[in-house]
Amino acid sequence: MVQAVRGMRDVLPQEARRWRLVEDAVTAVLRSFAYEEMQLPVLEFTELFSRGVGEATDIIEKEMYTLNDRDGDSLSLRPEGTASCVRSLQEHGLLYNQTQKVFYAGPMFHYEKPQKGRYRQFAQIGAEAFGFKGPDLDFELLLMCAEFWRVLGIDEFVQLEVNTIGAQASRIRYREALVAFLTPLSAHLDEDSQRRLATNPMRILDSKSETTQALLADAPNLVDYIDDDSLAHFKVLCSALDEHRIPYVVNNRLVRGLDYYTHTVFEWTTTALGAQGTVCAGGRYDGLVEQLGGKATPGAGFAMGVDRIVLLHEQVCQDLPNANVDVYVCFAQQSMMRAAQMLARTLREDRYRVRVHMGGGNFKKQLKRADGSGARWALILGESEVEEGTVAVKNLQSGEQHMVTNADLRGHMSKLDERP
Ligand code: ATP
Ligand code: MG
Repeated sequence: MVQAVRGMRDVLPQEARRWRLVEDAVTAVLRSFAYEEMQLPVLEFTELFSRGVGEATDIIEKEMYTLNDRDGDSLSLRPEGTASCVRSLQEHGLLYNQTQKVFYAGPMFHYEKPQKGRYRQFAQIGAEAFGFKGPDLDFELLLMCAEFWRVLGIDEFVQLEVNTIGAQASRIRYREALVAFLTPLSAHLDEDSQRRLATNPMRILDSKSETTQALLADAPNLVDYIDDDSLAHFKVLCSALDEHRIPYVVNNRLVRGLDYYTHTVFEWTTTALGAQGTVCAGGRYDGLVEQLGGKATPGAGFAMGVDRIVLLHEQVCQDLPNANVDVYVCFAQQSMMRAAQMLARTLREDRYRVRVHMGGGNFKKQLKRADGSGARWALILGESEVEEGTVAVKNLQSGEQHMVTNADLRGHMSKLDERP
């Protein structure tokens, strides 16, 4: 048998059920904040990401799935959604003289070492808003995330970290100071950080190496370089979080891995998933639209890692209604198949999930299947029932059984069962 490609995910039915629950809950919250869904292609020109995400980022340096199209164009499977989202809105004139609040869901691709919570194909739900420069947007995004966790019942297991990395100018000044501080120590830095010293020095701040972190203890502090406007922006955000009692910590080392951020950056993390602790990340990226060739437009957003949220949800909330079948229809002979399907259609109108038996066999065998399916009810259709226009409704938990006419079936079911 041909096997799946390393790091590509199969979401099997049991997990898919939880996956659906998570996606539905999250998208319902997004809609309740009046964000609109859009869909974006999985394949884009490589240049979109090298310009949008930044050449000197992990994603571009080593994590992209890049291929040459037949005519020689370099294409990449999208590693993230924000650049595509900007490309799309810009291309269709939707950033011109208007604001946008949108979300999208779908697979992203990173070529990295697969492990629990880290895959080569994984899913994100991303939200982005354009045309708003105030901290009220940053707050709204965080409020929305807090609402996801509350609705999913995982709010106790995630923590919010926020930081401001300031406007471009303050970042450049800080970068110079950081490089001046680290250059004499460069021989002691880990290999990745040595390379980043030349390409993307601020990323060294979130190095996972302990020796590098120890060296950073005396490094210049980012807050000392942040411009007053950014500090004021950040202060408004923090007081809104305080007022709404959304707990957070300010982490001055938080810089995020992507080039496009300015001002606010944030991460929602959990300690429940081992090393793969970040479940949602984002921030403000006021320079991105311009960087991609559009007119300067402020923007902010986040991406939630669906795989990790599903894993967390599984740990926290173990039991999920197991069955995906409500009613299982058994019938005595093949000639009754159409009558059985007719009853099934009737119940499906009331949104029952109905499975009609296939493959013949006696009632004993069929009822065993009905039990195995997890259905709560079986409809049992024998010869006399078909003749009389009736059917037996059996409660598969209690064994209780009633005979009803076909015309009464819907009414009878709704009386038995609160479920519509
Ligand atoms: P990490 O530090 O864990 O690699 P990241 O900073 O690369 O995360 P982003 O690219 O900003 O993450 O993506 C946002 C979210 O998407 C992450 O917080 C995470 O939940 C999820 N994510 C990122 N990469 C993966 C992956 N390889 N597998 C599963 N989920 C991922
Ligand atoms: Mg990563």
